Amino acid sequence: MSIKPKKQIEQLKPYPIGMTLEDIQSKYQPKKLRKMSDNENVYGFSSKVTEALRSSLHSLSLYPDATTERLCEQLSYQHKVPKNYFLIGNGSEELIRLLTRAFISDGDEAIMADITFPIYKSNVMIEGGLPVFVPIVEGTHDLQAMYEAISDRTKMIFICNPNNPTGTCVDPSELKKFIQKIPAHILVVLDEAYDEYMEQHQKIDSITLLMEHPNLVLLRTFSKIYGLAALRVGYGIMHPTVMEQLIKVKEVFNVNKLGQNAAIVALKDQPFVKDCAEKNLIERNYLSRRLSEQNLSFFPSQTNFLFIYNLGEIESLNERLLQQGIVSRFFPFPQFNGSMRLTLGTREDHETLLDVFDGLYTKEEVANNGSQSSLT
Ligand SMILES: *Cc1c(COP(=O)(O)O)cnc(C)c1O
Repeated sequence: MSIKPKKQIEQLKPYPIGMTLEDIQSKYQPKKLRKMSDNENVYGFSSKVTEALRSSLHSLSLYPDATTERLCEQLSYQHKVPKNYFLIGNGSEELIRLLTRAFISDGDEAIMADITFPIYKSNVMIEGGLPVFVPIVEGTHDLQAMYEAISDRTKMIFICNPNNPTGTCVDPSELKKFIQKIPAHILVVLDEAYDEYMEQHQKIDSITLLMEHPNLVLLRTFSKIYGLAALRVGYGIMHPTVMEQLIKVKEVFNVNKLGQNAAIVALKDQPFVKDCAEKNLIERNYLSRRLSEQNLSFFPSQTNFLFIYNLGEIESLNERLLQQGIVSRFFPFPQFNGSMRLTLGTREDHETLLDVFDGLYTKEEVANNGSQSSLT
């Protein structure tokens, strides 16, 4: 007999981890492996980071700075927000956990999109809270329906903007109005993990809004455009009254030393960030245009990935992609009739992908897949 976990843990499933790259390499033996499954930066990270890591190595025997003082100072300078508004996490995933840990009690409700970053749901459930799912519309958060879902048990609202896995963002003026009308006792968590990939006209000035609304929390990360996913550094920007509670539930030394030092240097190298965003935009437009020409369905993206759907049966497609070394993520969402999320890569990665797609679907199949999905 196994030991019974808490009731809510029994209902959870572990996050699906795909095959390892080594397994894929030995099974499919592609000429080149292209990891396009986790939205990492295909252009790597700032070259200045390497030196920062090297010079951190002499002090590995000492715990890292528990207050992450220097990184907060750099962020404060970068964002023009007081230093005491920044809380650094072991990835922004940790900040999601700290938020639910500190604020979600048994039976509290947290509103989120039905198809979004799955970590919101699991953390709410771990605390005994109830996730309230609001269906996305055309891949995007339905802010009106989310507002209507507020009840007297609502404690938190998660907005992933742009949304993972669909890549879409909400209309900036709608989002601003939404944040302004949420009652002050409900925490609005705006996850901006892909902010740096957005086009300027799609962004809201979330930092100005934060200054006016102490119930707003912004989440950012060094794992995406900064290319430091392995080092696990993310941050929240929030009112000190919110942070005060999070600090009580966080581990003391939650952010490792290499991560802190790398993040400081990476932040200073904004030309690298700008360059990655520009290259990404060019590739995003290119791949979007080519997919349209092949009549494939996908959502307009403001991120470094595309959500492609109406693919029908996905197993054989995945096999063919893996044979070319393309590792992407497929989803079982019934409403999308076979869907995948593909991290944007280089032009060569995209040509390889398009070659696999080309000729895979006849015109009738594309039309068929489309009509199937409109029935569901
Ligand atoms: C990748 C991602 C994160 C966080 O990643 P960390 O590596 O934990 O910083 C958070 N939110 C969304 C929507 C993401 O896609």
